[in-house]
Amino acid sequence: MEERVRQLEEENRHLKQLLSLKERREFSKTTETGKLSNEEIARYGRQLILPEFGVKGQVSLKSSSALVVGAGGLGCPASLYLAGAGIGRLGLIDYDEVELGNLHRQIIHSEDTIGVAKVLSASSTLTRLNSLVECIPYKIMLDSLNALSIIEQYDIVLDATDNVATRYLLNDACVLLGKPLVSGSALRFEGQLTTYNYEGGPCYRCLFPKPPPPETVTNCSDGGVLGVIPGVIGCLQAMEAISILSRKKASYSKKLLLFDGAEGSFRVITLRPKQKGCPVCGESPSVTQLVDYVQFCGSSASDKAKTLNLLPDEQRLSCKEYSTIRESLSPHILLDVREPSQYEICSLPNSINIPLKDLQQSQAAVNNFLYKSDDGGTKPIYVICQRGNDSQLAVDLLHKATTNLQLEQKPKDIKGGLQAWAKEIDPTFPTY
Ligand SMILES: [Zn+2]
Repeated sequence: MEERVRQLEEENRHLKQLLSLKERREFSKTTETGKLSNEEIARYGRQLILPEFGVKGQVSLKSSSALVVGAGGLGCPASLYLAGAGIGRLGLIDYDEVELGNLHRQIIHSEDTIGVAKVLSASSTLTRLNSLVECIPYKIMLDSLNALSIIEQYDIVLDATDNVATRYLLNDACVLLGKPLVSGSALRFEGQLTTYNYEGGPCYRCLFPKPPPPETVTNCSDGGVLGVIPGVIGCLQAMEAISILSRKKASYSKKLLLFDGAEGSFRVITLRPKQKGCPVCGESPSVTQLVDYVQFCGSSASDKAKTLNLLPDEQRLSCKEYSTIRESLSPHILLDVREPSQYEICSLPNSINIPLKDLQQSQAAVNNFLYKSDDGGTKPIYVICQRGNDSQLAVDLLHKATTNLQLEQKPKDIKGGLQAWAKEIDPTFPTY
């Protein structure tokens, strides 16, 4: 019942919004004098009086369009400022729904829209902010089949995603269609921004011809991010897009901005120039159409945490199997290889915390752990982490250091980590 009332209220709000939108557009049309309507003059007055922007800049912006790919940490502030500034048409692509863990950084969404498609939640906020902007939501995952037909409808693209496959996809599509690509990224306390494929500057492939090995890529769900970092970079992506659309001037073509929120520093470095031998924007390109980027990068085009399968099955056990071992009080050692900051959030009782990084950096740490836990070689070792990726790396490392042991005595990985534990065994266990 409550749910139905909520739905009706939402529908009602939406209808009112559409009605007022229609009235507004009529008003905007009927009062139009010259290039901007009275409403637009009142709305954008503070930026209209800037000599560097002025009526010319506003009219350019109004007749322009931008595609924001990703309605997350970067896409939220970027699209809010683009809509606020009065861009004519704003496309927004995202396949995901709003979750509670998004709200510390994705501030276009709200508690009310948890579970709602991000693009619908975002376009509703954007329309309430500026109903003169035509906002087009695409609840899809961008791929090689749909990218060109969508991107060709826009003047500029903002890469507000967090995965390598989509970066290459957007880069190649923008090069093939001749569109500037404003690319942002944010992780932990740091953010980066650059504009590709504009004013003779390099493209992403000029700088990174080959994708990095998937296991070396850290995203926000693994590495963490302070919410304000993508906020800063997303705002700067909007600024860059507005500069290009209104004044045909980029601030970050051929340059990379590095923002360090912990230090409070901004640095701009010069990037290596466009490469003649670039496979997509070079003189004789080998990439003349979009390819399979998931295959090319060996990683998924999703911003969600990836699941690696590094170990053979006999070196792993499920949460259920491990739970049985715990219940039987069978003596064993549980090694938790998360960072201490994560271990502090929550942990299973009687576990030992040694971060993967420590094991990777020091053979002494590995030997010390094995020596201390060697109880006549009788206690089996189980390794856990948050999602079951780092624990596999740790098991692999421990295996190399225990060549004297039989396979069945060697350390084992707990599949899916603490997230799977919370899902399959103990729903009261905290997740993050
Ligand atoms: Zn290139």
